[in-house]
Amino acid sequence: MTNYRIRVDEDLCIGAASCVTIAPEIFQLNAENKAIVLDPTQTDLSETYERWVALDEEGYENLLLGAQSCPTLAIFIYNEAGEQLFPEM
Ligand code: SF4
Repeated sequence: MTNYRIRVDEDLCIGAASCVTIAPEIFQLNAENKAIVLDPTQTDLSETYERWVALDEEGYENLLLGAQSCPTLAIFIYNEAGEQLFPEM
C-alpha cells in the first residue's frame, strides 16, 4: 500500500460526479454537491476535501481514472514527498 494525499478544490468542483461514478470508494458528493474524499477503510467518516489515503496499485489506477475524468481538473493527487502526481505539472 502506498499513501497518497488527495485534495478536491471545492471552488473548481462543479458536482459533475464523474469521479464518484468511477471511484465511489474514494469520492462522494456532499450536501453542497461537491466531491469529498472518503477514507476507503471507512474508519474515519468525517467529511473532508483533503485526506491521506493508502491504496494498492489497482486502487491508485482507479483514483487516477477518477481524477482524469473530472471536467474541471478539481482533483489533485500528491505523493508522500509532497510532489504533485496529478494533474501533471
Ligand atoms: S468530477 Fe470533478 S467536478 Fe465532478 S464531482 Fe468530481 S471533483 Fe467535482
